[in-house]
Amino acid sequence: EHRIVETGPIAGDSWQYSLRPHYLKEYIGQQKVKQNLEVFIQAAKLRQEALDHVLLYGPPGLGKTTMAGIIANELGVNLRITSGPAIERPGDLAALLTNLQERDLLFIDEIHRLSHSVEEVLYAAMEDYALDIVIGKGPSARSVRIDLPPFTLVGATTQVGRLAPPLRDRFGVICRLEFYRPEELVLIIKRTADILNVEIDDAGALEVARRSRGTPRIANRLLKRVRDFAQVAGEQTISSALAGKALDRLEVDACGLDRTDRRVLQVIIEKFGGGPVGLDTIAAAISESVDAVEDVYEPFLMQLGFLNRTPRGRVVTEAAYAHLGLPSPSEGKG
Ligand code: ADP
Repeated sequence: EHRIVETGPIAGDSWQYSLRPHYLKEYIGQQKVKQNLEVFIQAAKLRQEALDHVLLYGPPGLGKTTMAGIIANELGVNLRITSGPAIERPGDLAALLTNLQERDLLFIDEIHRLSHSVEEVLYAAMEDYALDIVIGKGPSARSVRIDLPPFTLVGATTQVGRLAPPLRDRFGVICRLEFYRPEELVLIIKRTADILNVEIDDAGALEVARRSRGTPRIANRLLKRVRDFAQVAGEQTISSALAGKALDRLEVDACGLDRTDRRVLQVIIEKFGGGPVGLDTIAAAISESVDAVEDVYEPFLMQLGFLNRTPRGRVVTEAAYAHLGLPSPSEGKG
């Protein structure tokens, strides 16, 4: 069972691929990233060279894959899509690279998950457009160098800190994608509504936007579910009241928290007096893995300012008490 506010792709999300914008001017938000890329793309085209390698990083669902496709379209080159875990051996990478045409774009998602041996081969490919391959074994082994066409690597990662420094240093362009503001998500939701042929008013779009955790993938998913409620209710247009009611039913609250997010806060408040409490203890108390708490629940709660990390453990903030409608411990202390 997947959470509806899951940031990564879940079953039933494939319809969203057809929503992906194809050109920079259709890509909503991420103004700084777009402005920079526009210049670099134009310059590469004027020089008739391959664009420098680009690293896109940021949380899942913010449009990294979408941006890779746009860069390829703007450059007018072919796009090949793969991912770190899919490239198991150096030979797999060699096969991909030798099939590229000049200036093509190779997109590697989850690039922080490349194996060490593949990464080593990638270094020379990125730097010199060459493949150093070892042929044979033992004393007769020898290294041969194969020239590659100039190409552009676009790497994407949610964990830029886990990237090996030599790999990171080989990207000429490094872009961080940010969470979207509600006004930007409103534009994305309206665009999707147009494509799906649903009517949603401004307030309705804002209601969905506010509960989408700054993430287009979640916004699109929530819109589609809200559409079902509108259909069954016999409503022509999605209003903010209807969107609110539908999302309440889906247990996505006004800040975009679901049941598990709220449970994390409640457990810390009810069992540990609001903290500080260790990550392991929290994970055990809600029967989730430490990784899930650290990678999935905690970042969003921290971003909302509901949870703080301290040297002695996690602490629930006043804002979280207020959001849950609970009296905060500092009240009444005089
Ligand atoms: P990531 O690769 O970062 O996980 P994706 O590129 O797959 O994210 O984006 C998820 C979905 O969100 C896409 O299918 C697309 O429909 C939508 N999307 C993402 N960014 C934008 C944007 N800037 N404008 C419009 N739609 C977007």
